[in-house]
Amino acid sequence: MRINVLGVGFDNVLMIEAVARGVDMLSQPGAHYVVTPNPEIVEICRKNPEAMRAVNGADLVLADGIGIIKGARILGTPLKARNPGIEFAAYLMKEMAEKGLSLYLLGAKPGVAEAAGKRLAEKYPGLKIAGTHDGYFQEDGPIIEDIRRSGADCVFVCLGAPKQELWMAKHGEATGARLLCGLGGSLDVFAGVVERAPKFWSDHGLEWFYRLCKDPRRAGRMMKLPLFLVHVQKEKRRK
Ligand code: UDP
Repeated sequence: MRINVLGVGFDNVLMIEAVARGVDMLSQPGAHYVVTPNPEIVEICRKNPEAMRAVNGADLVLADGIGIIKGARILGTPLKARNPGIEFAAYLMKEMAEKGLSLYLLGAKPGVAEAAGKRLAEKYPGLKIAGTHDGYFQEDGPIIEDIRRSGADCVFVCLGAPKQELWMAKHGEATGARLLCGLGGSLDVFAGVVERAPKFWSDHGLEWFYRLCKDPRRAGRMMKLPLFLVHVQKEKRRK
């Protein structure tokens, strides 16, 4: 059973369980998809029913961000662990490399997915990079066809929220891949374009603050975090 945080149902799993489920999906017929909502995405879903359906329709919903963990605790239904999408992706690639599976990277600015592919192929020997494409395309058809032709087992869809969730829900099946993962800005990190917060910051639940300091343009988006906590408090009182 999923844990409901303002309408989004989160799988109550440890990282090791999440990765095992991802690996299992890679061997099951049909397309599956994983989403990794943070408070900002939950707030988007509250306003956008289509995004809410796409997120809740995922085969695995991971709590990305300390805000979700805090929210679930305040609501009296704590989650076992925070499972950042980027860490889930790293563990999954390790497993895929051991099995010789292939990965398609979709998203980010032109050149970024390609650079990420080169670095990931070096870091995870055995992992096949089936193809890459930037995230600023106009038509879906040629992208779907390119993924299908590549024969990729898995696709990292990094188009930002809620674009990536909607894209996976709508086109996942047509890509022919067995697993799609919505991973926000992960390709920028894998390519070395953006630095992830050092462990100290993430261990103290301050990754959001580190990102804000590095890129103050995120301030508007960050305002969703206090708003999320206000909505959680309201929901708690309502309950
Ligand atoms: N992006 C994209 N296509 C778009 C809009 C965004 O490929 O139409 C990419 C953007 O370049 C970035 C990622 O999506 O690489 C979103 O990153 P962000 O930092 O917003 O995501 P977060 O990790 O905060 O969810």
